Amino acid sequence: MRIKKHKFPGVYVFVDEDGSERIATKNLVPGQKVYGERLIKSEGEEYRIWNPSRSKLGAAILNGLENFPIKPGSKVLYLGVASGTTASHVSDVVGWEGKVFGVEFSPRVLRELVPLVEERRNLVPILGDATKPEGYRALVPKVDVIFEDVAQPTQAKILIDNARVFLKSGGYAMISVKSRSIDVTKEPEQVFKEVERELSEYFEVVERLSLEPYEKDHALFVVRKP
Ligand code: SAM
Repeated sequence: MRIKKHKFPGVYVFVDEDGSERIATKNLVPGQKVYGERLIKSEGEEYRIWNPSRSKLGAAILNGLENFPIKPGSKVLYLGVASGTTASHVSDVVGWEGKVFGVEFSPRVLRELVPLVEERRNLVPILGDATKPEGYRALVPKVDVIFEDVAQPTQAKILIDNARVFLKSGGYAMISVKSRSIDVTKEPEQVFKEVERELSEYFEVVERLSLEPYEKDHALFVVRKP
């Protein structure tokens, strides 16, 4: 059993006794579990196993994502933070030098995140509607990366509207697209093409990746603001 570095800074690979590999992040708050994930101790450090069936970003990394703009020290705006499953791994990756601003419009869901952030202080929960970035403008500075996972029909527009306000020039955004949230009647491939076209009106599209088999009919796009 050992831990080795992944090619993406802040991400690790846990190699189990049987040789099987899983991704993990170094726990910023040792002892804290966020969604029942397994904790591993190695050489005085604690790591949290990153479950790709619970996290689309985890699924993307395992599916061979090539561009991962979230790094130690990054400032990240996370739209659709929910109860923090993926955002907690992002918080581990950016570390104490970075910050994650997590926007969520369901008070019930966000409430689950509140006890975690008492210690995980680089994750800032914001009750807000991602379709109305003006509503949280005073709370969020310019960021290096926007990550969006809101499963809404207008998700490309939501990303562009937030990028206009918060994303630095040259900054990156990652968006998880669920084709059925946009149009159940169309083939997923058709929906992804339309989303790509919409995103490319504002961004440079850097990468598109399927999240199968972890998430059916989902794709993740990495885009860059020129
Ligand atoms: N990204 C989370 C994770 O991996 O841990 C899961 C996010 S879940 C698929 C989508 C979340 O987006 C839900 O919690 C939902 O309440 C939230 N959401 C949907 N529309 C939103 C909006 N307009 N503004 C803010 N949050 C929104």
